[in-house]
Parts: sequence; structure tokens; C-alpha cells
Amino acid sequence: MLGAASAPSVLVLCSGTHGVEGFCGSGIQTGLLRDGITDHLPDDIRIVMIHALNPYGFSHVRRVNEDNVDLNRNFIDHNGAHPQNRAYDALYEAINPRADSRLRRELAFLRLFLERAIKGKRTLKVAITEGQYTHPTGLFFGGTSETWSNRTLRTISDRFLAAAKRVAFVDIHTGLGPFGHGELICRFPPESAAYKRMAAWWAERVIPADDSKSASNSLTGTTTISVSAMLPESEVTSVTLEFGTVGPISVLRAMQAENWLYHHGGVSEAKANLIKSRMHQVYYPDTDEWKRRVWEQGQLITGRAIEGLANEGSQAQSMQMAGDSS
Ligand SMILES: [Zn+2]
Repeated sequence: MLGAASAPSVLVLCSGTHGVEGFCGSGIQTGLLRDGITDHLPDDIRIVMIHALNPYGFSHVRRVNEDNVDLNRNFIDHNGAHPQNRAYDALYEAINPRADSRLRRELAFLRLFLERAIKGKRTLKVAITEGQYTHPTGLFFGGTSETWSNRTLRTISDRFLAAAKRVAFVDIHTGLGPFGHGELICRFPPESAAYKRMAAWWAERVIPADDSKSASNSLTGTTTISVSAMLPESEVTSVTLEFGTVGPISVLRAMQAENWLYHHGGVSEAKANLIKSRMHQVYYPDTDEWKRRVWEQGQLITGRAIEGLANEGSQAQSMQMAGDSS
């Protein structure tokens, strides 16, 4: 935590929810620290940086955690019945093909292309990525209980955020959208106060998750929705910051190969290294151009969040003063 512990407004910057995506978020966090972000911080604002919320995935170049759980699908009520994803069930073999057989990989893709031709791109994307709770070794598995990282985020929230009047939570991801473009994905309805604040702070960069223009789509059990629910007394502006890397097919292929490697192995060391290095590249393109764009937008988005929190704070103060004097 940076800044005065008593500051009523908090900007939370979270990296590594999806392990391997943490290289990007960590870059922004360390860059801001090196740049002396605290030197210009208003007195009533503090910053909480969560570095590598899913440290296992980050360390092992996996998107998921130590339980093969996609942490950004894990924040649901695990006491009740888990959501069903019948479309995923029907496509299970195609979404999780044997990566050690080229023929099976290509047949699986053909199956997905056919599905896309029949049902449409968006419907297929939702089926694959929305989250599933019945295939523990499959992609996008949301788990059947709260993971360590889930409990850790709750602990951080209780310890560092619960007393705050205003919280801006930015969860940094990569792998969706155009190369080097940072989209702020809003998982709250456009008529909500949270969405209106986001639009005021970040303008056209904010896109509702279920809008066809968004690189994302509706998901179950995300960090951004859960942080808002964890802090019922605070004004929460909670958003996913997603940086595009390579095309969605390349990303899905890299995920499929890595998931197969993790659960089944059976490939040479050279092939395994290739699969891991591909996984790294699709979530963290090793080019100066991509890193420059990420860093510029990371600074801009962080700066606007701090300004937005400051404005909300001074508006609340003047309303209180007007109320006191009337
Ligand atoms: Zn992600």
C-alpha cells in the first residue's frame, strides 16, 4: 500500500489474476513505482498494488492456478448449484483436443469453425469462454470451491479496502483484442453509476462486456464483480483492463497445447519448451512496440483513475459542506 493509510479513496492495481498475463500487469506496476507515482499522489488517495494474485500461474507460465482453475471464473457462490454450460459440454472434445496429434487438433478446429458458421462467432465465443464447472482438466474451469487466490483477494479487501469511501479496482489482463490496444471492459450495466463513472474517467475506452464491440463477453465469477460485492459500503469502480496481443485463434491454440501438456505430457522436451514459450508469447509479445503501447496506456489509464477519484472526492466534500450549511 502506498500513500496515507487513512486516505478515503483507493486505487487498486491488480496483476496476474490469469498467471501468465502477469508479465504485463507487473510491468505497469513496477514502471509506475520506478516513475515515482507516489510523488504526485493527492493526500486523500492511496494505492494498493496486488502483484501476482495467482502466483502459481505466473510462475509456471499458466493462465490458471495450482488447481487448474481459471481464477476469473471462480468468484461465484460455491455453496449453491454451479452454473451449467451445456454448449461447452457439447463442444468439450473440440475445445480440449489431444494436442499431441495434429490430425485431432485440426479436426477439433474444423468442429469449432462449423459451430461458428451455424451459431455465429459471438455465441461460440460465449460457449467456450463464459466458464464451466464440470470439467476439472478442461479450459475455463471455474472450480468447485474458493481458491487460495480468491480467499487472498477477500483478505486484501477486508484488510486494506473495507474502510475506504471510494475504490477503483483495475484488474490487468492480456490476450484479447487488437495488438497493443487497452480496452476497459465494464461488467456492469450501462445505466449503473459504476459504468457512468468509468465513461467519465476513460471515455470511449470503456466498453460493456456484452457489447458486440467488446473483445470480451459475459463471464461468470469475475474479480471485478466480486470486489464490488465485497465492499457494499464503498463506491466501487471496478474494471478489467485488457491488452490485445495476437489473434484469438492463436491464443486458443496456445492454451489448448499448454493445457494438454500440463495434464498429459507425452511430448519431447523440445516440443514442451516450444509449447511453453508459445504460451508466454501469446500473452506477452516480446516486442518494443507492444511494450511501449502498454506502458503509455497503463500510465494514462492510471492517471485518469486518480483524477476521477479526486473529482469524486471533492464533489462528495462540497455536497457535504452544502448539506452542513443548509
Ligand atoms: Zn485474463
